[in-house]
Amino acid sequence: MLKRLIDKFRPRARHPDRPLIIPRDQHNVSRRDISQAAIKIMKRLEEGGFQGFLVGGGVRDLLLGGHPKDFDIATDAKPEQIKRLFRGARIIGRRFQIVHVRMGREIIEVTTFRGHHDQSGNEDGMLLRDNVYGTLETDAVRRDFTVNALYYTLNDFAIHDYTGGLKDLEKRTLRIIGDPHTRYKEDPVRMLRAIRFAGKLGFQIDPGTADPILELGELLRNVPPARLFEEVLKLFMAGSATATFTLMREYGLLAHLFPATEAALEAGDETGLTLIEETMANTDKRVRAEKPVTPAFIYAAMLWPPMAARADHLSKSMPPQQAYQQAATEVIGHQLGHTSIPKRFLIPMREMWDMQHRLVQKRHPQRLLEHSRFRAAYDFLLLREASGEHLDGAGNWWTRFQDVDEAEQQKMIAESRQGAKPKSGRRRSRKRRPSSGDSPNPAPQE
Ligand code: ATP
Ligand code: MG
Repeated sequence: MLKRLIDKFRPRARHPDRPLIIPRDQHNVSRRDISQAAIKIMKRLEEGGFQGFLVGGGVRDLLLGGHPKDFDIATDAKPEQIKRLFRGARIIGRRFQIVHVRMGREIIEVTTFRGHHDQSGNEDGMLLRDNVYGTLETDAVRRDFTVNALYYTLNDFAIHDYTGGLKDLEKRTLRIIGDPHTRYKEDPVRMLRAIRFAGKLGFQIDPGTADPILELGELLRNVPPARLFEEVLKLFMAGSATATFTLMREYGLLAHLFPATEAALEAGDETGLTLIEETMANTDKRVRAEKPVTPAFIYAAMLWPPMAARADHLSKSMPPQQAYQQAATEVIGHQLGHTSIPKRFLIPMREMWDMQHRLVQKRHPQRLLEHSRFRAAYDFLLLREASGEHLDGAGNWWTRFQDVDEAEQQKMIAESRQGAKPKSGRRRSRKRRPSSGDSPNPAPQE
Protein backbone atom coordinates (compact mmCIF):
# COMPACT_ATOMS: atom_id res chain seq x y z
CA MET A 1 0.00 0.00 0.00
CA LEU A 2 2.69 2.42 1.03
CA LYS A 3 4.67 1.38 -2.02
CA ARG A 4 1.92 2.03 -4.49
CA LEU A 5 1.43 5.42 -2.97
CA ILE A 6 5.03 6.34 -3.21
CA ASP A 7 5.19 5.27 -6.83
CA LYS A 8 2.26 7.51 -7.51
CA PHE A 9 3.81 10.48 -5.81
CA ARG A 10 7.41 9.90 -6.81
CA PRO A 11 7.78 12.72 -9.39
CA ARG A 12 6.88 15.31 -6.79
CA ALA A 13 9.22 13.88 -4.20
CA ARG A 14 12.21 14.84 -6.33
CA HIS A 15 11.70 18.54 -5.64
CA PRO A 16 13.64 19.23 -2.50
CA ASP A 17 11.43 22.14 -1.46
CA ARG A 18 8.16 20.50 -2.37
CA PRO A 19 7.26 17.73 0.00
CA LEU A 20 5.63 14.45 -0.79
CA ILE A 21 2.28 14.75 0.97
CA ILE A 22 0.39 11.62 1.87
CA PRO A 23 -3.23 12.48 2.72
CA ARG A 24 -5.06 11.03 5.73
CA ASP A 25 -6.86 8.21 3.91
CA GLN A 26 -3.64 6.86 2.47
CA HIS A 27 -1.49 6.21 5.54
CA ASN A 28 -1.97 4.36 8.78
CA VAL A 29 -1.13 7.09 11.30
CA SER A 30 -4.21 7.66 13.38
CA ARG A 31 -4.92 10.22 16.06
CA ARG A 32 -6.01 7.37 18.29
CA ASP A 33 -2.46 6.02 18.51
CA ILE A 34 -0.94 9.35 19.50
CA SER A 35 -0.68 10.29 23.14
CA GLN A 36 -3.31 12.69 24.43
CA ALA A 37 -0.60 14.99 25.66
CA ALA A 38 0.93 15.32 22.19
CA ILE A 39 -2.48 15.95 20.63
CA LYS A 40 -3.26 18.67 23.17
CA ILE A 41 0.06 20.37 22.61
CA MET A 42 -0.34 20.38 18.82
CA LYS A 43 -3.88 21.76 19.15
CA ARG A 44 -2.84 24.52 21.48
CA LEU A 45 0.04 25.51 19.21
CA GLU A 46 -2.40 25.81 16.30
CA GLU A 47 -4.82 27.83 18.44
CA GLY A 48 -1.95 30.13 19.32
CA GLY A 49 -1.36 30.76 15.63
CA PHE A 50 1.62 28.42 15.31
CA GLN A 51 2.28 25.21 13.45
CA GLY A 52 2.65 21.98 15.36
CA PHE A 53 3.95 18.79 13.77
CA LEU A 54 4.55 15.37 15.16
CA VAL A 55 7.99 14.23 13.99
CA GLY A 56 10.76 11.73 14.67
CA GLY A 57 10.38 8.32 16.24
CA GLY A 58 6.67 8.82 16.91
CA VAL A 59 5.72 9.16 13.25
CA ARG A 60 8.31 6.60 12.12
CA ASP A 61 7.18 3.91 14.54
CA LEU A 62 3.47 4.50 13.87
CA LEU A 63 4.05 4.13 10.14
CA LEU A 64 5.85 0.87 10.88
CA GLY A 65 2.87 -0.28 12.90
CA GLY A 66 4.69 -0.09 16.23
CA HIS A 67 4.05 1.65 19.51
CA PRO A 68 6.21 4.74 19.86
CA LYS A 69 7.75 5.25 23.27
CA ASP A 70 7.63 8.99 23.00
CA PHE A 71 6.38 11.75 20.75
CA ASP A 72 8.37 14.74 19.61
CA ILE A 73 6.80 17.92 18.27
CA ALA A 74 8.30 20.50 15.94
CA THR A 75 6.89 24.00 15.72
CA ASP A 76 7.57 27.46 14.35
CA ALA A 77 6.98 28.90 17.83
CA LYS A 78 10.20 30.09 19.51
CA PRO A 79 11.12 28.59 22.90
CA GLU A 80 9.88 31.66 24.77
CA GLN A 81 6.60 31.56 22.86
CA ILE A 82 6.16 27.88 23.64
CA LYS A 83 6.79 28.65 27.27
CA ARG A 84 4.05 31.26 27.28
CA LEU A 85 1.54 28.76 25.88
CA PHE A 86 2.15 26.01 28.41
CA ARG A 87 2.30 26.24 32.14
CA GLY A 88 4.34 23.06 32.44
CA ALA A 89 7.03 24.14 29.99
CA ARG A 90 10.74 24.21 30.72
CA ILE A 91 13.48 25.31 28.36
CA ILE A 92 16.33 22.81 28.36
CA GLY A 93 19.54 24.45 27.28
CA ARG A 94 21.52 21.63 25.80
CA ARG A 95 23.43 21.81 22.55
CA PHE A 96 20.26 23.09 21.06
CA GLN A 97 17.40 24.48 23.03
CA ILE A 98 14.39 22.29 23.38
CA VAL A 99 11.31 22.78 25.48
CA HIS A 100 9.97 20.07 27.75
CA VAL A 101 6.23 20.39 28.15
CA ARG A 102 4.74 18.45 31.02
CA MET A 103 1.17 17.26 30.57
CA GLY A 104 -0.05 15.04 33.34
CA ARG A 105 2.51 12.29 33.67
CA GLU A 106 3.96 12.79 30.19
CA ILE A 107 6.79 15.00 29.11
CA ILE A 108 6.76 15.94 25.44
CA GLU A 109 9.75 17.44 23.67
CA VAL A 110 8.84 20.50 21.65
CA THR A 111 11.51 21.96 19.39
CA THR A 112 11.53 25.05 17.26
CA PHE A 113 12.22 24.46 13.54
CA ARG A 114 15.98 24.49 12.93
CA GLY A 115 17.45 26.62 10.20
CA HIS A 116 20.69 26.34 8.30
CA HIS A 117 23.33 26.79 10.96
CA ASP A 118 26.04 29.40 10.87
CA GLN A 119 29.59 28.09 10.52
CA SER A 120 30.18 27.63 14.21
CA GLY A 121 31.95 24.31 14.04
CA ASN A 122 35.28 23.40 15.64
CA GLU A 123 38.29 22.18 13.64
CA ASP A 124 36.74 18.70 13.31
CA GLY A 125 33.58 20.19 11.84
CA MET A 126 31.61 19.57 15.01
CA LEU A 127 28.68 21.89 15.55
CA LEU A 128 29.02 23.84 18.75
CA ARG A 129 25.76 25.69 18.47
CA ASP A 130 22.67 24.92 16.48
CA ASN A 131 20.18 27.55 17.44
CA VAL A 132 19.37 29.18 14.14
CA TYR A 133 15.65 28.97 13.58
CA GLY A 134 14.04 28.12 10.27
CA THR A 135 11.05 26.65 8.53
CA LEU A 136 9.54 23.19 8.24
CA GLU A 137 11.70 22.59 5.14
CA THR A 138 14.97 23.57 6.77
CA ASP A 139 13.99 21.63 9.88
CA ALA A 140 13.55 18.49 7.82
CA VAL A 141 17.04 18.60 6.33
CA ARG A 142 18.67 19.31 9.73
CA ARG A 143 17.34 16.01 11.09
CA ASP A 144 19.52 12.92 11.13
CA PHE A 145 17.92 10.17 9.02
CA THR A 146 15.26 10.34 6.34
CA VAL A 147 12.92 8.02 8.27
CA ASN A 148 13.20 10.36 11.25
CA ALA A 149 12.19 13.39 9.22
CA LEU A 150 8.53 12.57 8.53
CA TYR A 151 5.97 15.05 9.81
CA TYR A 152 2.34 14.59 10.74
CA THR A 153 -0.06 17.43 11.43
CA LEU A 154 -3.59 17.63 12.78
CA ASN A 155 -4.21 20.41 10.29
CA ASP A 156 -4.70 18.06 7.36
CA PHE A 157 -3.84 14.71 9.03
CA ALA A 158 -1.29 14.19 6.26
CA ILE A 159 2.31 12.97 6.32
CA HIS A 160 4.81 15.49 4.96
CA ASP A 161 8.01 14.04 3.54
CA TYR A 162 10.84 16.33 2.39
CA THR A 163 13.71 13.86 2.30
CA GLY A 164 12.43 10.62 0.79
CA GLY A 165 11.83 9.07 4.19
CA LEU A 166 8.72 7.19 3.14
CA LYS A 167 10.54 5.46 0.35
CA ASP A 168 13.36 4.49 2.72
CA LEU A 169 10.85 3.29 5.30
CA GLU A 170 9.32 1.10 2.63
CA LYS A 171 12.76 -0.26 1.71
CA ARG A 172 13.68 -0.59 5.39
CA THR A 173 16.77 1.48 4.79
CA LEU A 174 18.46 3.90 7.13
CA ARG A 175 19.88 6.84 5.21
CA ILE A 176 21.46 9.94 6.63
CA ILE A 177 20.20 13.24 5.24
CA GLY A 178 22.76 15.22 3.25
CA ASP A 179 26.48 14.51 2.96
CA PRO A 180 27.34 11.70 5.41
CA HIS A 181 30.85 12.96 6.23
CA THR A 182 29.63 16.46 6.99
CA ARG A 183 26.70 15.25 9.07
CA TYR A 184 28.80 12.82 11.13
CA LYS A 185 31.45 15.46 11.70
CA GLU A 186 28.81 17.97 12.84
CA ASP A 187 27.65 15.48 15.44
CA PRO A 188 29.52 12.16 15.79
CA VAL A 189 26.73 10.74 17.95
CA ARG A 190 24.79 10.33 14.70
CA MET A 191 27.04 7.31 14.02
CA LEU A 192 25.80 5.68 17.21
CA ARG A 193 22.27 6.61 16.32
CA ALA A 194 22.68 4.90 12.93
CA ILE A 195 23.69 1.70 14.71
CA ARG A 196 20.92 2.07 17.27
CA PHE A 197 18.14 2.50 14.70
CA ALA A 198 19.51 -0.25 12.46
CA GLY A 199 19.54 -2.60 15.45
CA LYS A 200 16.16 -1.55 16.77
CA LEU A 201 14.27 -1.40 13.47
CA GLY A 202 16.17 -4.21 11.74
CA PHE A 203 16.90 -1.81 8.88
CA GLN A 204 19.82 -2.00 6.47
CA ILE A 205 22.14 0.96 6.67
CA ASP A 206 22.54 2.45 3.21
CA PRO A 207 26.17 1.94 2.08
CA GLY A 208 26.77 5.68 1.72
CA THR A 209 25.57 6.13 5.30
CA ALA A 210 27.42 3.08 6.63
CA ASP A 211 30.83 3.33 5.00
CA PRO A 212 32.14 6.53 6.60
CA ILE A 213 31.48 5.18 10.09
CA LEU A 214 34.56 2.95 10.17
CA GLU A 215 36.71 5.91 9.25
CA LEU A 216 35.05 8.59 11.40
CA GLY A 217 34.31 6.55 14.53
CA GLU A 218 37.23 8.07 16.36
CA LEU A 219 35.48 11.45 16.34
CA LEU A 220 33.45 10.10 19.22
CA ARG A 221 36.42 11.02 21.41
CA ASN A 222 35.23 14.65 21.07
CA VAL A 223 31.85 13.88 22.58
CA PRO A 224 31.49 14.52 26.31
CA PRO A 225 31.44 11.26 28.35
CA ALA A 226 28.11 12.22 29.91
CA ARG A 227 26.40 12.40 26.51
CA LEU A 228 27.95 9.07 25.55
CA PHE A 229 26.63 7.51 28.75
CA GLU A 230 23.13 8.63 27.74
CA GLU A 231 23.66 7.02 24.35
CA VAL A 232 24.89 3.78 25.92
CA LEU A 233 21.62 3.56 27.82
CA LYS A 234 19.65 4.05 24.62
CA LEU A 235 21.82 1.53 22.77
CA PHE A 236 21.55 -1.25 25.32
CA MET A 237 18.33 -0.68 27.23
CA ALA A 238 15.78 -0.29 24.47
CA GLY A 239 15.13 -3.96 23.75
CA SER A 240 17.61 -4.50 20.90
CA ALA A 241 20.88 -4.72 22.78
CA THR A 242 21.93 -7.97 21.11
CA ALA A 243 21.65 -6.66 17.56
CA THR A 244 23.10 -3.32 18.57
CA PHE A 245 26.13 -4.82 20.31
CA THR A 246 26.96 -6.92 17.24
CA LEU A 247 26.63 -3.90 14.94
CA MET A 248 28.77 -1.78 17.23
CA ARG A 249 31.63 -4.24 16.93
CA GLU A 250 31.09 -4.62 13.20
CA TYR A 251 31.34 -0.86 12.71
CA GLY A 252 34.27 -0.50 15.07
CA LEU A 253 32.39 1.75 17.47
CA LEU A 254 32.73 -0.43 20.56
CA ALA A 255 36.44 0.39 20.42
CA HIS A 256 35.58 4.05 20.96
CA LEU A 257 32.96 3.65 23.68
CA PHE A 258 34.48 0.71 25.58
CA PRO A 259 38.10 0.49 24.39
CA ALA A 260 39.29 -1.85 27.15
CA THR A 261 36.39 -4.20 26.49
CA GLU A 262 37.08 -4.25 22.76
CA ALA A 263 40.77 -4.94 23.45
CA ALA A 264 39.94 -7.90 25.73
CA LEU A 265 37.54 -9.35 23.16
CA GLU A 266 40.05 -8.74 20.36
CA ALA A 267 42.58 -10.71 22.39
CA GLY A 268 40.27 -13.70 22.07
CA ASP A 269 38.34 -13.76 25.34
CA GLU A 270 35.53 -16.08 24.23
CA THR A 271 34.10 -16.45 27.73
CA GLY A 272 33.99 -12.69 28.10
CA LEU A 273 32.25 -12.31 24.76
CA THR A 274 29.65 -14.90 25.74
CA LEU A 275 29.12 -13.16 29.07
CA ILE A 276 28.36 -9.87 27.32
CA GLU A 277 26.17 -11.50 24.68
CA GLU A 278 24.22 -13.38 27.36
CA THR A 279 23.78 -10.15 29.29
CA MET A 280 22.44 -8.39 26.20
CA ALA A 281 20.07 -11.28 25.42
CA ASN A 282 18.80 -11.23 29.02
CA THR A 283 18.41 -7.48 28.97
CA ASP A 284 16.34 -7.68 25.79
CA LYS A 285 14.15 -10.39 27.30
CA ARG A 286 13.57 -8.33 30.42
CA VAL A 287 12.77 -5.19 28.45
CA ARG A 288 10.25 -7.11 26.38
CA ALA A 289 8.67 -8.51 29.54
CA GLU A 290 8.66 -4.96 30.98
CA LYS A 291 10.90 -6.01 33.84
CA PRO A 292 13.36 -3.47 35.20
CA VAL A 293 16.90 -3.38 33.84
CA THR A 294 19.80 -1.45 35.29
CA PRO A 295 22.87 0.09 33.68
CA ALA A 296 24.81 -1.23 36.69
CA PHE A 297 24.37 -4.77 35.43
CA ILE A 298 25.22 -3.90 31.85
CA TYR A 299 28.38 -2.09 32.88
CA ALA A 300 29.32 -4.92 35.23
CA ALA A 301 29.23 -7.33 32.29
CA MET A 302 30.79 -4.96 29.75
CA LEU A 303 33.80 -4.22 31.93
CA TRP A 304 34.21 -7.71 33.37
CA PRO A 305 36.43 -9.08 30.57
CA PRO A 306 39.05 -6.29 30.76
CA MET A 307 38.87 -6.30 34.55
CA ALA A 308 39.41 -10.06 34.73
CA ALA A 309 42.30 -9.90 32.27
CA ARG A 310 43.93 -7.09 34.24
CA ALA A 311 43.42 -8.88 37.57
CA ASP A 312 44.94 -11.98 36.06
CA HIS A 313 47.98 -10.02 35.01
CA LEU A 314 48.36 -8.20 38.32
CA SER A 315 47.97 -11.38 40.36
CA LYS A 316 51.42 -12.46 39.18
CA SER A 317 52.88 -9.88 41.50
CA MET A 318 50.34 -9.48 44.29
CA PRO A 319 47.70 -11.44 46.20
CA PRO A 320 44.61 -12.18 44.09
CA GLN A 321 42.24 -10.13 46.22
CA GLN A 322 44.47 -7.08 45.97
CA ALA A 323 44.94 -7.68 42.24
CA TYR A 324 41.19 -7.75 41.78
CA GLN A 325 40.68 -4.50 43.73
CA GLN A 326 43.35 -2.72 41.76
CA ALA A 327 42.13 -4.06 38.41
CA ALA A 328 38.56 -2.97 39.18
CA THR A 329 39.68 0.53 40.11
CA GLU A 330 41.90 0.88 37.06
CA VAL A 331 39.35 -0.39 34.55
CA ILE A 332 36.58 1.78 35.94
CA GLY A 333 38.84 4.83 36.04
CA HIS A 334 39.82 4.29 32.44
CA GLN A 335 36.22 3.81 31.33
CA LEU A 336 35.13 7.08 32.94
CA GLY A 337 37.30 8.89 30.39
CA HIS A 338 35.07 7.50 27.64
CA THR A 339 31.56 7.17 28.99
CA SER A 340 30.66 8.53 32.37
CA ILE A 341 28.92 6.25 34.87
CA PRO A 342 26.84 8.07 37.45
CA LYS A 343 27.58 7.08 41.05
CA ARG A 344 24.12 5.63 41.52
CA PHE A 345 25.08 2.93 39.00
CA LEU A 346 28.79 2.74 39.71
CA ILE A 347 28.34 1.83 43.38
CA PRO A 348 25.94 -1.08 42.83
CA MET A 349 28.11 -2.29 39.96
CA ARG A 350 31.18 -2.38 42.16
CA GLU A 351 29.18 -4.15 44.89
CA MET A 352 28.10 -6.80 42.41
CA TRP A 353 31.71 -7.34 41.45
CA ASP A 354 32.93 -7.36 45.05
CA MET A 355 30.35 -9.99 45.96
CA GLN A 356 31.53 -12.42 43.29
CA HIS A 357 34.33 -14.00 45.26
CA ARG A 358 32.23 -14.14 48.40
CA LEU A 359 29.59 -16.04 46.45
CA VAL A 360 32.18 -18.48 45.17
CA GLN A 361 33.66 -18.88 48.68
CA LYS A 362 30.17 -19.30 50.20
CA ARG A 363 31.26 -17.77 53.49
CA HIS A 364 28.45 -16.58 55.79
CA PRO A 365 25.85 -17.40 53.15
CA GLN A 366 22.87 -16.27 55.22
CA ARG A 367 24.39 -12.84 55.63
CA LEU A 368 25.08 -12.66 51.89
CA LEU A 369 21.51 -13.63 51.15
CA GLU A 370 20.32 -10.53 52.98
CA HIS A 371 22.66 -8.19 51.15
CA SER A 372 20.71 -5.63 49.12
CA ARG A 373 22.78 -6.53 46.06
CA PHE A 374 22.50 -10.29 46.46
CA ARG A 375 19.99 -10.82 43.68
CA ALA A 376 21.98 -8.91 41.05
CA ALA A 377 25.27 -10.48 42.16
CA TYR A 378 23.75 -13.96 42.06
CA ASP A 379 22.31 -13.35 38.58
CA PHE A 380 25.73 -12.17 37.50
CA LEU A 381 27.32 -15.32 38.93
CA LEU A 382 24.88 -17.48 36.97
CA LEU A 383 25.70 -15.58 33.80
CA ARG A 384 29.42 -16.07 34.36
CA GLU A 385 28.89 -19.80 34.70
CA ALA A 386 26.56 -19.93 31.72
CA SER A 387 29.25 -18.26 29.66
CA GLY A 388 31.78 -20.93 30.51
CA GLU A 389 33.58 -19.84 33.66
CA HIS A 390 34.31 -22.67 36.08
CA LEU A 391 33.24 -21.63 39.54
CA ASP A 392 32.95 -24.97 41.34
CA GLY A 393 29.21 -25.11 40.74
CA ALA A 394 28.65 -22.04 42.90
CA GLY A 395 25.61 -21.00 40.87
CA ASN A 396 23.80 -24.25 41.46
CA TRP A 397 24.78 -24.21 45.09
CA TRP A 398 23.19 -20.81 45.59
CA THR A 399 20.11 -21.73 43.63
CA ARG A 400 19.62 -24.70 45.94
CA PHE A 401 20.52 -22.76 49.06
CA GLN A 402 17.72 -20.28 48.44
CA ASP A 403 15.28 -23.09 47.91
CA VAL A 404 15.76 -25.33 50.94
CA ASP A 405 14.71 -24.94 54.57
CA GLU A 406 17.02 -23.82 57.34
CA ALA A 407 18.07 -27.29 58.50
CA GLU A 408 19.09 -28.18 54.99
CA GLN A 409 20.92 -24.86 54.66
CA GLN A 410 22.97 -25.69 57.74
CA LYS A 411 23.88 -29.00 56.19
CA MET A 412 24.94 -27.29 52.97
CA ILE A 413 27.11 -24.87 54.91
CA ALA A 414 28.81 -27.69 56.81
CA GLU A 415 29.42 -29.62 53.61
CA SER A 416 30.88 -26.65 51.79
CA ARG A 417 33.21 -25.94 54.73
CA GLN A 418 34.53 -29.49 54.52
CA GLY A 419 34.89 -29.37 50.78
CA ALA A 420 36.46 -25.93 50.58
CA LYS A 421 39.82 -26.49 52.21
CA PRO A 422 41.55 -29.16 50.15
CA LYS A 423 40.16 -27.62 46.99
CA SER A 424 41.43 -24.14 47.57
CA GLY A 425 44.80 -25.60 48.41
CA ARG A 426 44.94 -27.40 45.12
CA ARG A 427 43.93 -24.29 43.19
CA ARG A 428 46.79 -22.31 44.53
CA SER A 429 49.08 -23.58 41.82
CA ARG A 430 49.93 -20.61 39.61
CA LYS A 431 48.51 -21.84 36.39
CA ARG A 432 47.65 -19.26 33.78
CA ARG A 433 43.98 -19.21 33.21
CA PRO A 434 42.94 -20.05 29.67
CA SER A 435 40.73 -16.99 29.42
CA SER A 436 39.34 -14.25 31.63
CA GLY A 437 37.46 -17.31 32.81
CA ASP A 438 37.89 -18.00 36.46
CA SER A 439 37.11 -15.71 39.31
CA PRO A 440 39.69 -13.00 39.81
CA ASN A 441 39.72 -14.08 43.44
CA PRO A 442 40.55 -17.74 43.25
CA ALA A 443 41.68 -18.34 46.81
CA PRO A 444 40.61 -16.94 50.16
CA GLN A 445 43.26 -14.67 51.58
CA GLU A 446 41.93 -14.22 55.06
P1 ATP B 1 13.41 7.05 19.74
O1 ATP B 1 12.46 6.03 19.29
O2 ATP B 1 14.66 6.48 20.29
O3 ATP B 1 12.83 8.15 20.59
P2 ATP B 1 13.70 9.18 17.86
O4 ATP B 1 13.92 9.13 16.38
O5 ATP B 1 12.43 9.80 18.32
O6 ATP B 1 13.87 7.71 18.37
P3 ATP B 1 15.01 11.10 19.53
O7 ATP B 1 16.36 11.00 20.14
O8 ATP B 1 13.82 11.10 20.40
O9 ATP B 1 14.94 9.92 18.47
O10 ATP B 1 15.03 12.39 18.61
C1 ATP B 1 13.86 12.88 17.98
C2 ATP B 1 14.14 13.36 16.58
O11 ATP B 1 15.06 14.46 16.63
C3 ATP B 1 14.81 12.34 15.69
O12 ATP B 1 13.88 11.50 15.08
C4 ATP B 1 15.52 13.23 14.68
O13 ATP B 1 14.63 13.71 13.73
C5 ATP B 1 15.96 14.40 15.55
N1 ATP B 1 17.32 14.21 16.09
C6 ATP B 1 17.66 13.68 17.28
N2 ATP B 1 18.98 13.66 17.48
C7 ATP B 1 19.53 14.20 16.38
C8 ATP B 1 20.87 14.49 15.96
N3 ATP B 1 21.91 14.18 16.74
N4 ATP B 1 21.03 15.07 14.74
C9 ATP B 1 19.98 15.38 13.96
N5 ATP B 1 18.72 15.15 14.30
C10 ATP B 1 18.46 14.57 15.48
MG1 MG C 1 11.87 10.23 20.29
